[in-house]
Amino acid sequence: MGYREIAAAVGEGARIGAAEALELYLHAPTPLLGRLADDIRARRHPERIVTYIIDRNVNYTNVCVARCNFCAFYRPVGAQDGYVLGFDEIFRKIDETIALGGGQLLLQGGHNPDLPLEWYEDLFRAVKARYPAFRLHALSPPEVLHLSRLSKLPVPQVIERLVAVGLDSIPGGGAEILVDRVRRLLNCYSKASADEWLGVMRHAHRAGLRTTATMMYGTVETVEERIEHMLRLRGLQDETGGFTAFITWSYQPEHTERGGEEATGIEYLRTLALARIVLDNFDNLQASWVTQGGKSAS
Ligand code: SF4
Repeated sequence: MGYREIAAAVGEGARIGAAEALELYLHAPTPLLGRLADDIRARRHPERIVTYIIDRNVNYTNVCVARCNFCAFYRPVGAQDGYVLGFDEIFRKIDETIALGGGQLLLQGGHNPDLPLEWYEDLFRAVKARYPAFRLHALSPPEVLHLSRLSKLPVPQVIERLVAVGLDSIPGGGAEILVDRVRRLLNCYSKASADEWLGVMRHAHRAGLRTTATMMYGTVETVEERIEHMLRLRGLQDETGGFTAFITWSYQPEHTERGGEEATGIEYLRTLALARIVLDNFDNLQASWVTQGGKSAS
């Protein structure tokens, strides 16, 4: 099928597979892709209201043993500029967030071997004791896996313990591209394989948590592998219905070991539109204004 026939089928509400998604991405003009995606958005949200949440992104530590080669954030164990935020510092950030009308912390950090599961339990307990209505959107799947390995407890038990002290939902970070060939090249296979990332999300959804899903593109992956990533997310969403939103952004090469170039704004718009078409069982797509800038994101 050519892209025009596929576009017509998408307009009728058809689900597309890998071959059709590839044809659309490679050949459909950008305005057509955008219109198809916007029509799907309008069908899912006929009230045409775009929503947002006011939260604060806090990275509790930059010390990390994973050493992904696309990451400009981490510092190795023992580095002079490695840090762990104190609880008081985190409380101060929550106070500032609440003062600005925020209601949630997006809390993520490095895989710091000096922070045991009990540190997170103490932190979550303390946050909920001080701010009972404040939401903790915390610890991406690789962090949950790291805690599982560190504590020698199975993933479901780690999730159960974190929920017991106040975890509200899990951010979809650390997904990069859910294809192991790509993960090996990015040195992020050992922190979480594609199956392991999806496995943590499956356990979280079964435990009643809602989570988001992400995709970082523009490193070494092919367009086919981006599509495979989307299809794996769609498969898990069919199974659990636990994803609330999908967020994608382009690799930011500055100050990374990997280096290279950043993908263009057009590529972002085409990738986002394709995701809206493929992820037909996701209610929401988020615009990544922090990485793409306000103009692309709006
Ligand atoms: S696990 Fe996260 S913090 Fe650690 S190196 Fe990878 S991307 Fe950076």
